[in-house]
Amino acid sequence: MTAPATGIDTAKIKTNLRCITSTLPEGVDLVAVSKFHPVEALVAAYDAGQRYFGESRVQELITKIPLMPNDVHWHFIGHLQRNKVRPLIGNVSLIESVDSLRLLETIDRISSEMKVVTRVLMQIHVAAEESKFGFLPDELIEYFATQRFKDLRATNICGIMGMATNTDNNIRIASDFQSIRQCFDTIKPLVPETHEFDIVSMGMSDDYPLAIEYGSTLVRVGTAIFGSR
Ligand SMILES: *Cc1c(COP(=O)(O)O)cnc(C)c1O
Repeated sequence: MTAPATGIDTAKIKTNLRCITSTLPEGVDLVAVSKFHPVEALVAAYDAGQRYFGESRVQELITKIPLMPNDVHWHFIGHLQRNKVRPLIGNVSLIESVDSLRLLETIDRISSEMKVVTRVLMQIHVAAEESKFGFLPDELIEYFATQRFKDLRATNICGIMGMATNTDNNIRIASDFQSIRQCFDTIKPLVPETHEFDIVSMGMSDDYPLAIEYGSTLVRVGTAIFGSR
């Protein structure tokens, strides 16, 4: 695909993307977070080989899907209200931001109704901010220890997603990433090997190299690819 002439610096997007991709170790995937950016920007990234795209609003995601090639893997990464789940089911390859059991149950019920399997990550809350959504590490460990995930009919929990505290303090950020990874490592043996449970999604534009050092397998990068929103 070629992008129509717009004010978007498609060459810069491609350069940014190649630059980041070349630094990723094997086993670490990149989600290009394209929220609030127009489709022309996504097309530039697609043309440079990017296939995973992350969006944080249901309506925006649903609008973009038919405008992009159908081998794109869409990740939903925003806070999801239960009454907005339905349009996502069957349309996304991963919902990264499951932050409550009620949301998980809604996803499972609708997926089951629609006869599709939805892949999700459980969002964990370790940051200092109260405003961040997600399960506390102990809550999440408890959920897996009691094997409640086995009640799910049409949902695969594929790992966990987390965000570090929004701070310049690298020691705090590193300790948040360590907590997220430790939580994953505690849960992993509680999940039968027949289940796909191997994704640790952490790291954004400012902190993804540090997240990788602490064991991220999936980084979500927006600004460093597409510029500011
Ligand atoms: C917006 C967003 C990102 C990307 O943030 P950048 O700083 O632009 O890289 C990553 N993860 C989540 C959950 C987001 O909402």
